[in-house]
Amino acid sequence: AKQSGKRQVARLDGHGEAAPIVRNALIRRRLPEAFETRAFSLRYQPQMDLASGDCSAVEALLRWTDPVLGAVSPAEFIPIMELSGDIHRIGERVINEVCAQARRWLDSGTPRRIAVNVSPLQLAARTIVPELVEALHRHGVPAYLIQVEITEGAAITDLPRAVGQLQQLRDAGISIALDDYGTGFSSLSLLRSLPLTTVKIDKTFIDNIDSAPSDALLVGGIIDTAHALGLKVTAEGVERESQRRLLRDLGCDTVQGYLISRPVAPKDLS
Ligand code: C2E
Ligand code: MG
Ligand code: MG
Ligand code: MG
Repeated sequence: AKQSGKRQVARLDGHGEAAPIVRNALIRRRLPEAFETRAFSLRYQPQMDLASGDCSAVEALLRWTDPVLGAVSPAEFIPIMELSGDIHRIGERVINEVCAQARRWLDSGTPRRIAVNVSPLQLAARTIVPELVEALHRHGVPAYLIQVEITEGAAITDLPRAVGQLQQLRDAGISIALDDYGTGFSSLSLLRSLPLTTVKIDKTFIDNIDSAPSDALLVGGIIDTAHALGLKVTAEGVERESQRRLLRDLGCDTVQGYLISRPVAPKDLS
């Protein structure tokens, strides 16, 4: 009985060999209370400009610590919220909080641009433009302090609609990054057809860049291509100095990763 009890605990905290369906159902069951008690918060991860060493841009990353489940990763709960429809509710909260934080940083004399992750479903629902524009206005935040991150790939099912929404964001002065580049279709035509300002190369391509010459070649090619299209390049998941040095030599603009900082609370940003 004791052993099975242990297994149960392992399942609940997500580190055991949990049946994904069980874990999924538990997360879904805990969501209403999490919304009610405002159990979600944002952490901010600095992005370092390689030319200046400056870290005046950050990415907002959602956190949820549940009294029953413990810390649940957004990689787990975002897809569940996309299925349940809760993504629209949480997305609106994130946008509001990001604008409020941008305002606080403006007021304290340390303005920071904040990148916010947006689900393709928010684009598809056409809610993102009015929500963002309204939140910027309400908090008195200039649009250039917000960047929207979208993921490429199958999720962008309705390309013309996505392009229309993103163009409206660009017209409002908001910049746009294509997240996780390289993990989906990595299509070059997507780089051309979306109104982007930045490409974020996925961590999986950065992981071995300092030991696998073919990965370095590939990343160098992506950087050159992006630059030829007038886009900035950010490398994700940079954990070692040797990676940063190589990325700088390859002409990468910005790096983000544990080497610079983990995602932290606003008060812990230097
Ligand atoms: P992402 O947008 O690609 O974010 C990068 C993820 O990599 C984050 O995980 C970050 O904490 C992690 N990371 C950053 N640097 C390093 C590193 O050096 N090493 C390692 N091992 N990991 C690093 P996180 O915070 O767990 O978020 C996972 C994903 O969840 C995000 O991937 C994003 O797609 C999604 N997400 C997070 N917050 C939101 C949100 O507010 N809205 C939406 N729609 N999705 C979100
Ligand atoms: Mg992101
Ligand atoms: Mg990413
Ligand atoms: Mg990701």
